[in-house]
Amino acid sequence: MPKILLVEDNEMNRDMLSRRLERKGYAVVMAMDGESGVMMAQSEMPDLILMDMSLPVLDGWEATRRLKSEGATQNIPIIALTAHAMSSDRDKALESGCNDYDTKPVELSRLLSKIEALLKDSNKGEAP
Ligand code: MN
Repeated sequence: MPKILLVEDNEMNRDMLSRRLERKGYAVVMAMDGESGVMMAQSEMPDLILMDMSLPVLDGWEATRRLKSEGATQNIPIIALTAHAMSSDRDKALESGCNDYDTKPVELSRLLSKIEALLKDSNKGEAP
């Protein structure tokens, strides 16, 4: 069962998305701010991270930069989630190291296909 770390400060979004992902067969661990998101990634080693960009303590861009600059976590795929559909936001997310990007409110089928594509890629990378 693939493990997803969901970093999201909005309780309603967090509860709703985690429930829907669990129903699809994913194990979900959660963090409520960027700094605990980084710590959770290091301790839980999830298969993929869903990272809200606007987060307290440490925003999603900085949290992503930290995870992507450390050997232990740099290969964990990260999907940025933002409320803004602006292309500058998308560019900023990709520049900070996010592997993909999606906008909120989340459309589950679209997000799931991005999750599955990244998980397939990273499994290929681990093959001998
Ligand atoms: Mn937020």
